[in-house]
Amino acid sequence: MALVNEHFFKLPNNYLFSDIAKKVNAFKVSHPKTDLIRLGIGDVTRPLPQASIEAMHKAVDELANKETFHGYGPEQGYDFLIDAVIRNDYAPRGVYLEPGEVFISDGAKSDTGNIGDILRHDNSIGVTDPIYPVYIDSNVMCGRAGILEDGRWSNVVYLPCLSENNFVPEIPDRRIDILYLCYPNNPTGTVISKAELKKWVNYALENDTLILYDAAYEAYIQDPDIPHSIYEIKGAKKVAIEFRSFSKTAGFTGVRCGYTVVPKELTAATLEGERIPLNRMWNRRQCTKFNGTSYITQRGAEAIYTPEGKKQVKAIIQYY
Ligand SMILES: *Cc1c(COP(=O)(O)O)cnc(C)c1O
Repeated sequence: MALVNEHFFKLPNNYLFSDIAKKVNAFKVSHPKTDLIRLGIGDVTRPLPQASIEAMHKAVDELANKETFHGYGPEQGYDFLIDAVIRNDYAPRGVYLEPGEVFISDGAKSDTGNIGDILRHDNSIGVTDPIYPVYIDSNVMCGRAGILEDGRWSNVVYLPCLSENNFVPEIPDRRIDILYLCYPNNPTGTVISKAELKKWVNYALENDTLILYDAAYEAYIQDPDIPHSIYEIKGAKKVAIEFRSFSKTAGFTGVRCGYTVVPKELTAATLEGERIPLNRMWNRRQCTKFNGTSYITQRGAEAIYTPEGKKQVKAIIQYY
């Protein structure tokens, strides 16, 4: 007899967004003349940057030819894209990464959901509240969130973001093993200053906390004093994994591409207290369960770092 993973039964009936879609549809039927502003799941509305379109067409043509065909690529992503990421997204901000620290993925949802594979089932979790539902649901699925009591998970520390505190969460008064932070934030839209982010990095350094930093909206930062990467804060490479996505940056929601940075100096402990580099574990996980983002997609993503691509992305972001 095959037994199911019963943790799934603890999940609130449905994925939040399909729930909202049902409610919206029901409302539209009962209020046919009312205009709706949707604050549920969104999507980009602008087409891909022209530079990506051209690069992807070219990549398709390469695949049509025996001499330039690409089959399985590296599970970690092609060097051309990893190098473009390091050169454009990090080096100009004084963050120096090795190619082996960047893992190209099919988007930030997969990676923020899958990262739990390399972490024990009984770590405590901290989340800002409200949050992107993947952070909690993916922990529920492996039992890490504990049990649901009055709409709260027993193993999750909630850090409220309310109008009363200007949507800025307070540093917790106890230690947490794994903390999810998302800046610029979905859904509140808040950003975090360097001084404020430094407090979180210091909290993590003092409490041996792993920060899972979702920077999917990094490209939307306008203020020069707001950090784009958590690694702009000293010591962050010891405590944080950063997730990025081309979805909101360049309209890749349907194409699927993002990346995850796991610094080589980042470690977590075994029960016996031995420190293990998470980079090695994530690499092992990806090599086993992921076969890389498509060549066409990675060429399309690389193109946003060309001079034309940068201009086009800037215009798209300006539009939003
Ligand atoms: C959209 C979004 C993602 C997922 O992006 P994909 O790369 O398309 O999977 C991750 N985190 C947040 C907060 C998002 O809003």
